[in-house]
Amino acid sequence: MRVAVFGTKPYDKEYLRAHCPESVKLTFFAPSLNEDTVPMVKKVDAVCCFVNDSVTRKVIQKLAKAGVKLIALRCAGFNNIDLEAAKQENIVVCRVPEYSPHTVAEHAVALIMDLNRNIHRAFNRVRENDYSLQGLQGFEIHGKTVGVVGTGSIGLAFAGIMQGFGCEVIAYDPNENKAFKKIGQYVPLEELWERSDIISLHCPLIPPTYHLVNADTILKMKDGVMLINTSRGGLIDTKAVIEGLKVSKVGYLGLDVYEEEAGLFFEDLSNRILTDDVFARLLTFPNVVVTGHQAFFSKEALANIARVTMENIEAFSKGKLNRVNTVTV
Ligand code: NAD
Repeated sequence: MRVAVFGTKPYDKEYLRAHCPESVKLTFFAPSLNEDTVPMVKKVDAVCCFVNDSVTRKVIQKLAKAGVKLIALRCAGFNNIDLEAAKQENIVVCRVPEYSPHTVAEHAVALIMDLNRNIHRAFNRVRENDYSLQGLQGFEIHGKTVGVVGTGSIGLAFAGIMQGFGCEVIAYDPNENKAFKKIGQYVPLEELWERSDIISLHCPLIPPTYHLVNADTILKMKDGVMLINTSRGGLIDTKAVIEGLKVSKVGYLGLDVYEEEAGLFFEDLSNRILTDDVFARLLTFPNVVVTGHQAFFSKEALANIARVTMENIEAFSKGKLNRVNTVTV
């Protein structure tokens, strides 16, 4: 199998090469796959994509013309692929569904701990020889109510950690998970918005979850609620959450994902002007912490992603691709 790998960073090369079987030949491209870069795809059987590649119908039609038979995602989410178009072009899409749920769940907890105890502000103060505490006060996580939206593999791992903190964990998921019932209680989504001190999003971005957090749902939340999103940016209406922050309805916001992150995250843009005014406004709040889609970024997760991506590609070439790892419409 000849595979064109898009959006490649040095760590992708290192881990993918380490897990690459002899039967697979990898060619690495730094840019993301999109309508501008798809002409780079020539004489390959598969493309390997990541979260911000934009695999639209046009891209898929061009991939099909170039002979591509497989889109191997090296991530869990697949909201950036036009699955209907892939089906029409007989291109199979596969992903890495559960590469390291604890890695992402632990990052969500890191955002909670940082926001609550103002670690990001304390770090800067101490470097400035400023040891004053005014403004750094936190609250005890123990005993608080934590709402988990989506109790798949990451949501479940997150719920388990928060149970360990001594929180009351409630959740909403249209597909209830037996394992979660040992940790907490399922409630209707409305009740989750109303009761939670901390809300963490762990559901996929699909049409019904687009802007799940919006002006109406924010109004239903507790005053000063802490919102955490390590799932996909489109789950939150960013402009609505900014309005919520301005009136202190939203007390804390921790984001690892942002709805307009494509073209921004994963790149060093420190010499450029930030042109996204909504994102720029977010960065002005002292009670907002943004990380650039790094929740997945652990040694264990990178190794698992590379191993399963290579297994998927090899299995596809032998007609034995696992159903769980295959994404269908
Ligand atoms: P998963 O498929 O195991 O779980 C998703 C859960 O969401 C399922 O239980 C599903 O029933 C539930 N769900 C579906 N629709 C829902 C709705 N309307 N409301 C509430 N729940 C709903 O997925 P996962 O592995 O736990 O990953 C969750 C998300 O995390 C992924 O979709 C991906 O977008 C994101 N993710 C982010 C990173 C990162 O680095 N930031 C890394 C991996 C995954």
